[in-house]
Amino acid sequence: MYDVIVIGAGPTGAAAAKTLADKGRTVLLIEKCELPRYKSCSGCLIKKTMGLVQQYFGEEVPELTTCSPAENRGMVLVDDKGNHLTFGQPGLNVWRSSFDNWLTERAAAAGAEVRDRTGAVSCTEADGIVTVVLQGRETYTEQARYVIDCEGVVGSFKRKLIKEKPQYITTFQTFNEGSIDLDHHYFYAYLQPELSEYDAWFNVKDDMLVLGVSVRNPARIEHFYRQFIAYMQDRHGLRIDRQVKAEKWLMPHIRPGCRVDHAVGRVLFAGEVAGFLNPMGEGISSGIESGHAAACAIAAHFDDRSAVLADYQAATRELQLYMQRQWGFVAGMADNFGEMRI
Ligand SMILES: Cc1cc2nc3c(=O)[nH]c(=O)nc-3n(C[C@H](O)[C@H](O)[C@H](O)COP(=O)(O)OP(=O)(O)OC[C@H]3O[C@@H](n4cnc5c(N)ncnc54)[C@H](O)[C@@H]3O)c2cc1C
Repeated sequence: MYDVIVIGAGPTGAAAAKTLADKGRTVLLIEKCELPRYKSCSGCLIKKTMGLVQQYFGEEVPELTTCSPAENRGMVLVDDKGNHLTFGQPGLNVWRSSFDNWLTERAAAAGAEVRDRTGAVSCTEADGIVTVVLQGRETYTEQARYVIDCEGVVGSFKRKLIKEKPQYITTFQTFNEGSIDLDHHYFYAYLQPELSEYDAWFNVKDDMLVLGVSVRNPARIEHFYRQFIAYMQDRHGLRIDRQVKAEKWLMPHIRPGCRVDHAVGRVLFAGEVAGFLNPMGEGISSGIESGHAAACAIAAHFDDRSAVLADYQAATRELQLYMQRQWGFVAGMADNFGEMRI
């Protein structure tokens, strides 16, 4: 019997597990993939994220998690008329496999039990205890007083508790050898409707040029990707010598009001699976913050489930308002996001 089972060893789950272990709670962190696990991501840590890591993990993000150029100097947003706006701030460029694994190791060092290659399948709740069905080499159960579900975008565990069809944005990005006349230290996001149905982006990781588009309709990926490549060739002298790899992933489709699902019974949701995601797909900061908030709420009101929920909702209210403001700001820059106007 654990105090808490945390599902998913991304930044959200690692933050939740570390916080609970620091507070003396018994915690099992389970991860369906083998660690370190891969996550498709631009890997930009904004200033806020680095501050949260320092605050909750007690250390600076180490160099071993970064890729070249390690320094991220901010974001360039290109609005739907093609105007460039530069938002400068110090950040980092990391590989998510290394960064997330380092966070998980910090949780383990604090006392969390970490079990990888183990998926959470479903759960039932009775008499204040949650029984979770786990799938490793075999199927078995573990019990806890609470679960924090941090399983990320697809959320198949959550879908068994909230039977609502989620909406997704599909992302497609390629890693390339080549050259371009843009500063490698920035993340560039393009909001023109002819380049994507959401945003298109460019950044650099270990000197590979990363070019991506995101769409509502996956059948349109190829069309938008071709348009984007042609645009970057025309405007920025993009030259691709060799495509190293290509990958598809998903993001939650954030809707007007930026709804967040906090909990069902003793299962709390945090990070992307709860609905936390800032514009241009920045989700690591809200993942760490919501994972930490869920853990603090449980630790503070362990014997009072209603108080846990109320505390968690209150602690993440500002995060939700921040999301609404940020999405509203982007809506003012591009019609693609018009529905997010506030
Ligand atoms: C293309 C792309 C680029 C992005 N770029 C950035 C960026 O530059 N900066 C930024 O801040 N954010 C970025 N994001 C968003 C960011 O990746 C997510 O918001 C963030 O990873 C969410 O963290 P999480 O811990 O909630 O979920 P995840 O990081 O997805 O972690 C969830 C974990 O749970 C595991 N899991 C899933 N189901 C189960 C189960 N049933 N049982 C056990 N384990 C399970 C998964 O394997 C995974 O390890 C990007 C996203 C995409 C798709």
